[in-house]
Amino acid sequence: MQLLSILRMASGVSLWRGLDYLEQGRVKNLRPDGKGVFDAEVEGTANLPYTVHVDTMHVRQSYCDCPHAAGTRRSCKRMVATVFAVYPQQIDAFKWGVEQAELEYKREEVAHRAELVRCVNSLKKDELCKALLDALIELEECHDRWW
Ligand SMILES: [Zn+2]
Repeated sequence: MQLLSILRMASGVSLWRGLDYLEQGRVKNLRPDGKGVFDAEVEGTANLPYTVHVDTMHVRQSYCDCPHAAGTRRSCKRMVATVFAVYPQQIDAFKWGVEQAELEYKREEVAHRAELVRCVNSLKKDELCKALLDALIELEECHDRWW
């Protein structure tokens, strides 16, 4: 089953929005054929719902007729919502993946901070003064750029 590649073809934003859509009950009239193919209507902001077709055996035949997904290989939030409706265990896997990425980011941040401390501790006074001055100038330039 190539189910996961449908989710992989969605952006991070589409994954979160798809989960929102599911939790808001926007996936209507879900029709499984018992062979891994699902059709549904997913409500959006437009008056008419969009039609979603998910084929877990032939992922490329999956589609949604919304402007974001039609004619592309992208998975939109409505396709994500439909997949999550059929396979709720994928929601936990998705959230777990996000948590792991956040933990990894924090680990890298901690490691980077420790490296920075090591680097500063290794500098002599004149090197520290120059590094501090460079950092202050850079900070000022950032400030001018963003404020
Ligand atoms: Zn769509």
